[in-house]
Amino acid sequence: MSAKTIDAILNKALAGEDISPEEGVALLEQTEPAAIEDIRVTADALRREQAGEIVTYVINRNINFTNICEQHCNFCAFRRDAGDRGAYWLDWGQIEEKATDAVRRGATEICMQGGLNPEAKEKGTKEKANSLSYYQKLIRTIKDKFPQLHLHAFSPQEVQFIAREDDLSYSEVIAALREAGVDSMPGTAAEVLDDRLRQVICPEKINSATWLEIVGTAHKLGMPTTSTMLCGHIETPQQQIGHLRSLRDLQQNAGDRGYPTAITEFILLPFVGEKAPAPLRRRVGRDQPILADSLLLTAVARIFLGRWIPNHQPSWVKLGLAGATEALNWGCNDIGGTLMEEHITTMAGAQGGSCLEVSSLQAAIGEVGRPYAQRDTLYRHLK
Ligand code: SF4
Repeated sequence: MSAKTIDAILNKALAGEDISPEEGVALLEQTEPAAIEDIRVTADALRREQAGEIVTYVINRNINFTNICEQHCNFCAFRRDAGDRGAYWLDWGQIEEKATDAVRRGATEICMQGGLNPEAKEKGTKEKANSLSYYQKLIRTIKDKFPQLHLHAFSPQEVQFIAREDDLSYSEVIAALREAGVDSMPGTAAEVLDDRLRQVICPEKINSATWLEIVGTAHKLGMPTTSTMLCGHIETPQQQIGHLRSLRDLQQNAGDRGYPTAITEFILLPFVGEKAPAPLRRRVGRDQPILADSLLLTAVARIFLGRWIPNHQPSWVKLGLAGATEALNWGCNDIGGTLMEEHITTMAGAQGGSCLEVSSLQAAIGEVGRPYAQRDTLYRHLK
């Protein structure tokens, strides 16, 4: 594609129009440094217009309550079978202790997700031993003591797991989780919303339509979600753009139908394969993400999605803090959270670490010469 055509696509985005999937693919296929720099500059300008100069961060803590999981995703180094070395299942006291520590360290958010553990059914409350009651007890363990914490919890895959185990609808599960105290849901388990690809990387996971249905149902019920993409493995530019298009359509649909909430942010999650299962690792042929590829996709995601989803976040766990800081020049307006502990990517061999102090996040933002602000999970600035 000629430089003139790339200019036309970028000008279209700068004029506030949606670019087409074909135009998005054309941007992703650029290899000339000058064209890539034009894409970066456009993404940065759109970031300024759509999200402003301030770079935000959130003080949060991850709690991954178990790594025992019935599924076997081909990129996952976190999962274990019950009884395996390294398998764990946090008890109620450990969960409460982690939440207490998070509050002591200034957290406003707990992000809680875990493996799909069929034995959860047995751990539900005595009155009703089903999976939902186990998840409700997880929520109450945190929210009864710390009602002020924003609980960002349970992926669409976990919603489907509970619904399947207890023979409930997705709406019933989401409404019950919200009633118990979940404030928003992570848009994880999306990986790449392309069923042929999902058959290779996560064959047991919910398909694309189910992911979209559950997230759309959450929005309809007033439960905000985030959105993510697992990139940098065996997906094509067409599949990357197809994924972004599905997110854009979902967000537009939430607006068209007047849903009370929608997607709050987009997070790019580059694949870390060092300790991932061998077949996919061998196919990908490297252990760590290629920063340049991640940055180009970061910029194209801003150009393709920014009008509809204005908040874009890189993953410092996967890219390292230096890589995430660089992403602030490629369309991102947020640097993520302190996390306090991170298991899923760290177990895959990520080199970014599993906890960052607020001062490190602030210093990283300072390096790109932009002001910073602490935010809550829903992107409201905090003093
Ligand atoms: S990615 Fe999630 S669902 Fe897949 S194996 Fe790992 S823990 Fe289980």
